[in-house]
Amino acid sequence: MQEDLMKVAAANLKKALPLMLKHQIPTTPTNYAVWYTYVGEKSPALNQAMDQVLRDYQTCPPARSELLYREFVSDPVELDVRELQQNLEAMVIELSQSVKDTNRDADMFQQQVKTNFSKLGRLEQEALSLEQVMDLVRNFINESDKIRASTAYFIGQLQKAENEIHHLRERLEKTEKDSLHDALTGALNRRAFDADIQGILSQSPDGCCIILTDIDHFKAFNDTFGHLLGDQVLKSVAQRLSDFCRNGAKLYRFGGEEFVILVPASELKRARHLAESLRRGIEKLSIKDRRKGGTIDSITASFGVAQWQTGMSALKLIEQADSLLYEAKRLGRNRVMPITN
Ligand code: GH3
Ligand code: MG
Ligand code: MG
Repeated sequence: MQEDLMKVAAANLKKALPLMLKHQIPTTPTNYAVWYTYVGEKSPALNQAMDQVLRDYQTCPPARSELLYREFVSDPVELDVRELQQNLEAMVIELSQSVKDTNRDADMFQQQVKTNFSKLGRLEQEALSLEQVMDLVRNFINESDKIRASTAYFIGQLQKAENEIHHLRERLEKTEKDSLHDALTGALNRRAFDADIQGILSQSPDGCCIILTDIDHFKAFNDTFGHLLGDQVLKSVAQRLSDFCRNGAKLYRFGGEEFVILVPASELKRARHLAESLRRGIEKLSIKDRRKGGTIDSITASFGVAQWQTGMSALKLIEQADSLLYEAKRLGRNRVMPITN
């Protein structure tokens, strides 16, 4: 409805312009209103009077135009002009609302809408030529269509991009998880440990401890119960160890049947206590062998605990924990070294 009205108004403007040019009529609002009504053929009396004036003068002098305006058209045409402006304004508001609703990059579109809106205000200004008015109307229609189309396209693209980002993020998270975790036990892997210890030692190494642990006589489990049950032992040990990791302590599979626990900002005594809890926790494990019907409840592990000292590299720290672990093995296994601080 509004668009129909606007089309009529635009068509009348289109017709009025060439006539005004032809008769060299200045493009004042009064003249514009008279000629707009003339081409719209809304007032036959005006058309008759105007035709007479044109025959007499080959143009419409300002004084005659003023008279014609007052006599025939003042109110109705002003109404039409206002109507045209209101239609455009309504469209701007509607458009601006729909852009707002999308809530996406509204700024750019709103800016365009605002620019058009302020241009519309100039419809009432004296010096605006009909050509300029027509240009504004045409531009506005064009831009409205463009804005509508690009908004819809933009939202479509945005949704597509959002979906893609979602899938990419999922894939990335999975890849990241895969690259930092051990597939068998689910614990963090050696790579994660290397990165984490480097990070801690380069940022806040004070009090950092590591607990290195190795399952005792693990080879015997494999040999006696089979490799699959060996895997089950590894999983259960990892689960038990991680159950004890709190307050920033993290578990990593160091390799084979060896694990390492990183205990940042701690004390050797506290780390040793933690290792002792871990040792006892593993001692209590019991795993059912479903195939052969037996139970494995003789799982133990040995522990070496070391604390970072000023100037120590990650490698040195690991070496120290490893030699203490070796010591624990040598002294009979199933124990934590050092015994005291
Ligand atoms: P120790 O008490 O001195 O540590 O003796 P151990 O038998 O535990 O040590 P050893 O190094 O002789 O044997 C470790 C075994 O762990 C050998 C290897 O086949 C086994 N192993 C390493 N990784 C895996 C794994 O992912 N699954 C299984 N089932 N076995 C593994
Ligand atoms: Mg072992
Ligand atoms: Mg080993």
